[in-house]
Order: sequence, then structure tokens, then C-alpha cells
Amino acid sequence: MSEAYQVTPSVGVNIRSGPGTGYSKVGAYAQGTVVTVTATRDGWGQTEKGWVSLDYLEAVEAAQRVTDNGLRIQARYIDAGRKNRPGGVNPCGYITIHETGNAARGADAAAHGSYLNSAAGEAALVSWHYTVDDHAIVQHLPDGETAYHAGDGPKGTGNARSIGVEICVNADGDFAKARENAAWLVRLLMEEHGIPIGHVVQHNHWNGKDCPYTIRHTSGTWEAFLALCEGGPCAKTNRQAVQARFGLSEETMDYLEAYRYGADLLQKLAAAN
Ligand SMILES: [Zn+2]
Repeated sequence: MSEAYQVTPSVGVNIRSGPGTGYSKVGAYAQGTVVTVTATRDGWGQTEKGWVSLDYLEAVEAAQRVTDNGLRIQARYIDAGRKNRPGGVNPCGYITIHETGNAARGADAAAHGSYLNSAAGEAALVSWHYTVDDHAIVQHLPDGETAYHAGDGPKGTGNARSIGVEICVNADGDFAKARENAAWLVRLLMEEHGIPIGHVVQHNHWNGKDCPYTIRHTSGTWEAFLALCEGGPCAKTNRQAVQARFGLSEETMDYLEAYRYGADLLQKLAAAN
């Protein structure tokens, strides 16, 4: 491995001769220094000048990943060593789509990130790579690691060879917007890892669970989601299609689009016979 990290604490960070505070201090990096980590062990990273605790480093590349609709991916990894971060080598052959199933207000991407990196998340032995809501994408694990989200066992193809994406269904969120954000993320992951659209699958594919529940129980939604992932008809195109078909004014179209579920409505109208 070889990844760029930035030193985050204002006081900088100590460099030690080995991976732990028991090793002697051999120097320090100032805040903002970008270091290349060539190996990791026990939550420590090896740099050119010695070992540094990963608790004080933020992955530079991960922080700079942005979807084409402008959402920055926020990397907040589950602590190394937690049981729900088993490590492993994930070849990223598939993308698995879930819904959180958590309708509680405030159950957004950040909240799920906090849960995964807690004693409760660790005890439940669950993890996945990304949670997406109507305004943010939080990454919990590097793509190249195994996660426990597919219910097909620790070595199952879903857990060990796919990237897990959870879409939030919190009552105070906009589910249509969250789905759209997830599609932009999937599009980015397909590009980065060369994953074909046929390998973008539902959680249901791996173990028969009724997930992603709302998408599975709303006719046409999965197909529309895949079309978005492929760069197919987006809300703009739907708007144009609907406007042309029904002969509506710009004002009416603006009104429809501003409606809370406007994007969904336009999509349904555009697809209607
Ligand atoms: Zn699921």
C-alpha cells in the first residue's frame, strides 16, 4: 500500500521507531504535513521517518473524492481493530445496495457512521462501506476491505467481494434525493473499480433479505436507480420529456420540480404511457 495522509492535530504528531507508544520518539510532523503511509500495523502507519498513530492522520485521497453532483465523500473509518472491521482484501467486484431500515428522525449518514464506530456497532458485528442520505456521503471503511453487510458469511461473495452502500430512510430526510445521491456514488465507484452495471445488486441478491425494502416495494424504482447509475435519464431530462408531452409552461415545471417529491413525480410522468 501507499496512501497519502495529512497530520490533523494543531500540536502535530510524534514519530516513533515502531508501531506503538512504547517505542522511542524519533521526531515529529507538524500539523498539515502530508505523509505517505507505506504499511499499517495495530493502528499505526509507517512513514519515511518512522511510525505515526493513524488516529492523528486523515486520508488525503479519500477526503478529496467528490461525486459528479458535487458531494464530497467524508471518510470516517471504523477504528482499526474493532471486530466489525475485519480487514481482508476486497477485490470490489460488485456494489451491494441496501436501505438502513431506520426511519427515526436524525438517522442520517453521520449518525450511522457514529453507530458503526461504537461498542454497539462492534457488538452487532455489522459494517458496510458507505452511508448516503439526502445531503451527505460518509465512508466507514476503505473500499478494499471486507465488511459485514450481505448476510452471506464472512467469506461470502457479498461480504468479501462487494462494496456495501446503505441509503438512509430517516423520516426527516428526502428519500428520493438520498437515492439520487447514492446513484452518483455508485457511478463513481463503477468508474474507479471498473464495475459493470450488471454487478450493481440488491442486498436481496446475496441472502434473500427483503432489502432495499422501499425500492423493492415501489414499482420501477430499482430500474430507475440503475438507469441513474448508468448516467441514464436524470431529473433534467425527465423535466424536458414531461414538458414536451403535456405542453406545460416553465412556471408549472418549476412548481412541479420544487415539490418535495418532484424528481420522483417527473420520473413517473416521463415514464408513463
Ligand atoms: Zn441490506
